Amino acid sequence: MTLPQPVAGILDIAPYVGGRAKAAGAARIFKLSANESPLGPSPKAVEAFNAAASQLHLYPEGSSSILRHAIGEVMGLNADRIVCGNGSDELLHLLALAYAGSGDEVLYTEHGFLVYKIAALAAGATPVAAAERDYATDVDALLAAVTPRTKLVYIANPNNPTGSYIPSSEVRRLRNGLPEHCLLVLDAAYSEYVSRNDYESGIELVATTPNTVMTRTFSKIHGLAGLRIGWAYAPLAVVDALNRVRGPFNVSIPGQQAAVAAIRDTAHLEMSAAHNAKWLSWLRDRIAATGLKVYPSVCNFLMIEFPKDGPKTAAKADAFLLQRGLILRGVAAYGLPLCLRLSVGTEEANRLVAAALEDFMRAK
Ligand SMILES: *Cc1c(COP(=O)(O)O)cnc(C)c1O
Repeated sequence: MTLPQPVAGILDIAPYVGGRAKAAGAARIFKLSANESPLGPSPKAVEAFNAAASQLHLYPEGSSSILRHAIGEVMGLNADRIVCGNGSDELLHLLALAYAGSGDEVLYTEHGFLVYKIAALAAGATPVAAAERDYATDVDALLAAVTPRTKLVYIANPNNPTGSYIPSSEVRRLRNGLPEHCLLVLDAAYSEYVSRNDYESGIELVATTPNTVMTRTFSKIHGLAGLRIGWAYAPLAVVDALNRVRGPFNVSIPGQQAAVAAIRDTAHLEMSAAHNAKWLSWLRDRIAATGLKVYPSVCNFLMIEFPKDGPKTAAKADAFLLQRGLILRGVAAYGLPLCLRLSVGTEEANRLVAAALEDFMRAK
């Protein structure tokens, strides 16, 4: 008897393990492992979500028209060039499905987001990781890794879990150096947190080249991770391909309604960005003062490096923090076994985690 077998590549996928949410024994827990918004979504988004309860028996409008138009209006983009997805994860997968297959290579960076490799393997393509320089995207290494079979390049800018970014001039140099047939996907999940003059999320490059896509999410600064909503801004030909492969009703009605309210609430977005800017630098300074290495981050999280051996390893810190209900994210799966990733939390969580790391480093 021969039982059904998954096609080549599927069983090579290491299942994605999300940030933990539990700490056994701790009276209260602070989940700082998934880069979720400590302030939550706009109250207007919650209101819109609740109002959608009366429509649950209806299929959503299939193209996410209301959401595409709201995004278009707020961001000054053509709604026809937007595709919405069940999280940006779905769009990252659909891009691989549509543009890479057996015999093709999908390129990303060494410590890039895990979904890129999973999406490549799921599409039957060969994943290829290019080295980074100082834990940041290295355009020269990427260009050196390109072959005639490279069909897709994923770059998270800024990147998770390293927190680094590359300036728009470097993104442009990457685009200019890639073959025309190669689709460049700029994953800008954390772009709303970045306030650097030399950073651009990708809108300009998508608008001016026929082979660049930008993906965005409502999961991070908009605080709607539970609803699973992302969007892509892309050339019309890519929009057309994505619309052929996506599920016909891939974004729910409550999700669309909440996201419309969220993107219109720019005051809530600004408040969330301000909270993050304040506490990101506060946490960085407090943690650096303990002697631990903290990598520069433009996101809503920090990557902290611990000694390789002895009493102060990442694993020991993780266990210590967990006892106090502070849940961080180990990033060994990203090739960073010495590091933990800490999401910026509420003021209370930030103060607790800083104090806990001080105690950990001080303890004999
Ligand atoms: C969180 C994250 C996303 C967002 O995923 P969703 O499916 O939209 O929740 C995308 N890319 C990176 C790099 C992320 O860290």
